[in-house]
Amino acid sequence: MLEGKTAVITGASRGIGKAIALKMAQNGANVAIIYAGNEAAAKTVCTQAESYGVKAAAYRCDAASFSEVKTTCDKIIADFKSVDILVNNAGIVKDNLLLMMREGDFDSVIAVNLKGAFNFAKHLSRPIMRSSAGRIINISSVSGMMGVTGQANYSASKAGLIGLTKTLAKEFAGKKVTCNAVAPGFIETDMTAGLSQAAREYADTAIPLKRLGAADEVANTVVFLASDLSSYITGEVIKVDGGLYM
Ligand code: NAP
Repeated sequence: MLEGKTAVITGASRGIGKAIALKMAQNGANVAIIYAGNEAAAKTVCTQAESYGVKAAAYRCDAASFSEVKTTCDKIIADFKSVDILVNNAGIVKDNLLLMMREGDFDSVIAVNLKGAFNFAKHLSRPIMRSSAGRIINISSVSGMMGVTGQANYSASKAGLIGLTKTLAKEFAGKKVTCNAVAPGFIETDMTAGLSQAAREYADTAIPLKRLGAADEVANTVVFLASDLSSYITGEVIKVDGGLYM
């Protein structure tokens, strides 16, 4: 489905990003794996991706740093020659009620989750516009659509990503580049591993499908959006949340 394409996936050493990278590789895409610090995990993802017969390389890069992202994107372009697909998936949480939330915890979540997506879109926009079917896919969250107590920083960053998605969809449409967002609900990854028993019980009762989702279920939607099957979809937000928010 993605044969011959090159995809850059941020936050691909673990969780949802890893599932996306491997599913893209399985579908024929070369993959550039971006990670923050977990080098061993990123290299393992590369080895697994290469087992599908595609090219894979890992790049350590802080998505929040405009200059680091530029250097990394320049390296990726030199290594892969072209980039067709960008998946802005890197994300962090620093939850607290607003009354207790520190300024630094607001700023860092916005910097990684929202500015990180701007940084990669900015520095990869030229090769993506040169692609015959460029794709930008931003991993938002239902938290950004419904608001979640204790997530003022995270919800704001994920709502911001939806605005960024719709704007890029309009700006790049003339170049046949589509830009869409995927909004997962509760997905089993390291990010949700620390959920309290009460939060898990809430999830079980609030989610119509009565379970947390798997990273692979998000990856399926991302691969669909990256493929030609989604050629007439742009500026859209697709929830993958078991019906949590509707
Ligand atoms: P995760 O398991 O915590 O993995 C986070 C990934 O992001 C790791 O690969 C990490 O790299 C990377 N990362 C963190 N900070 C970074 C930075 N500054 N620069 C570059 N990479 C960075 O997270 P996840 O659950 O898979 O979540 C992936 C995305 O889905 C996030 O945007 C998250 O907000 C969103 N999402 C998740 C859920 C959920 O329930 N899990 C729900 C809705 C939305 P290292 O391994 O090197 O640290």
